[in-house]
Amino acid sequence: MKKMLLALIALLTAGTLAQTDNRFVYEPVPAEVSVPQAGAVPSDAIVLFDGSNMDAWMTAAAEEDAHWEIADGAMTVRPGMRTIKTRQVFGDIQLHLEFRPSELIQGEGQSRGNSGVFLHSLFEVQVLDSWNNPTYVNGQAGAIYLQSAPLVNVAREPGEWQSYDIIFQSPVYDGRGNLSEPAYVTVLQNGVLVQNHVALQGATYTPLPEYTVRCVPYGQEREQDCSGKMPITLQDHGQVVSYRNIWVREL
Ligand code: MG
Repeated sequence: MKKMLLALIALLTAGTLAQTDNRFVYEPVPAEVSVPQAGAVPSDAIVLFDGSNMDAWMTAAAEEDAHWEIADGAMTVRPGMRTIKTRQVFGDIQLHLEFRPSELIQGEGQSRGNSGVFLHSLFEVQVLDSWNNPTYVNGQAGAIYLQSAPLVNVAREPGEWQSYDIIFQSPVYDGRGNLSEPAYVTVLQNGVLVQNHVALQGATYTPLPEYTVRCVPYGQEREQDCSGKMPITLQDHGQVVSYRNIWVREL
């Protein structure tokens, strides 16, 4: 009986403490998000490609309808099909996509399964067939191109599906054209960490990495304001690479 009483007092005291001690935070309550099964699209995600059409995409330069090859739930870029970008623009995001370099090995180094995910249309997370395919390490799969080599090489054999899960924090400007906070990126390839909250040095091709409010995003020709929300761009590097199951969550 005494034990029970003590336990009850302890419980009541803990409850009172929890309400007055500001270490315990009750609001805002995290939104409920469901993921129906392992690997499914989260309920609050924006689907950019579900295997059926490319309505979410347009060509990067001319802003015309995108026409990559769609088959078996994947969209495939072949030489000349052009670099594409999302119609929607984004700030901070969590991005999921799956990619598959062609199983037909034709080139080597940068000429094998080369494509790329340009966050903010400016910062390239390299897509490459890095299975037994040496190249400069800050240009292999999982690299922030020319800025940061991946922590490990988790490439699968060409022709196999791989995944990127990317957390991107967009750069912040002070309104007078000066950078306040650089962009940061975290990348998991096939579920393994390859970039850990890396501060980006600037846009990939300028030609040295740099931050400028006025810039020409990758694959485009027109200089524009690059300090706000931007599209996500996928690269046509003249090789055969497929993508599927692309979704993004705004953070
Ligand atoms: Mg590339």
